[in-house]
Amino acid sequence: MISDKLTGQNTKHFFRRPFDRFLVIAGPCTVDSKDQLEETAAKLSQIGVSHLRAGAFKMRTSPDSYQGLGEEGLQYLQDAGSRYNLETVSEIISVADIDLMCQYVDILLVGTRNMQNYPLLKALGMINKPVILKRGMANSIREWIQASEYIKKGGNDNIIMCERGIRTFEDYTRNSLDLSAVPIVKSLTPYPVIVDPSHATGRAELVKPMTWAAAAAGADGVMIECDADPLNMKCDSKQTITIEELQSILEKLPSITNIWR
Ligand code: PEP
Ligand code: MN
Repeated sequence: MISDKLTGQNTKHFFRRPFDRFLVIAGPCTVDSKDQLEETAAKLSQIGVSHLRAGAFKMRTSPDSYQGLGEEGLQYLQDAGSRYNLETVSEIISVADIDLMCQYVDILLVGTRNMQNYPLLKALGMINKPVILKRGMANSIREWIQASEYIKKGGNDNIIMCERGIRTFEDYTRNSLDLSAVPIVKSLTPYPVIVDPSHATGRAELVKPMTWAAAAAGADGVMIECDADPLNMKCDSKQTITIEELQSILEKLPSITNIWR
């Protein structure tokens, strides 16, 4: 059991580099419309992004907030992904949606609010697709790793761990990005670890420094909210960066990721 190692005194640290290159997943928080996603996907592919994210089913804190387009949104995501040769990432919120999601999406994302949805994790253990497991906003590293064991136990070890910030007393940022989790989880699990600087900070201007910091901490990639028109989004506009900002972040990334080679 991976979590047994959490109690070990002499944990052997093994830093793995499972991806050929630093993984960059980018896209809007939600699929707002077909046109929005098509325009954003086209521009992301032009700047070398390989993975497109966008939510069709959302776990919104308020029931009055935009809940997503559902299957229609998944269709737009699949269309944009195949047109621009981008792998797709979208959030799974319920066991009932697994078959549907698997028809449309390349990588399933478990959001922070579902990290302890054990029936969902068990069901994701039985699928044949990668799963990104976000850290619960109020969960310890131990609990997060144990959550990954639910997926592994079903037979699916195609897991990517995603640090997305935790709740602290600090309220200048949306959450507090726990970058120490990156080398810790890389040492205690065989899984790649990526960082979501968008939900971690809640502020577009902090995405660049936190992305570079994640790369310096040894992360295997990032997931960033980015859109062709961040000011006119249905969700998370304040933390969403422009395509041009993402391009400027990506230009300098190799000089940081190279420190780990
Ligand atoms: C998301 O990535 O779309 C998301 C909702 O993030 P989180 O679950 O980390 O809040
Ligand atoms: Mn979001």
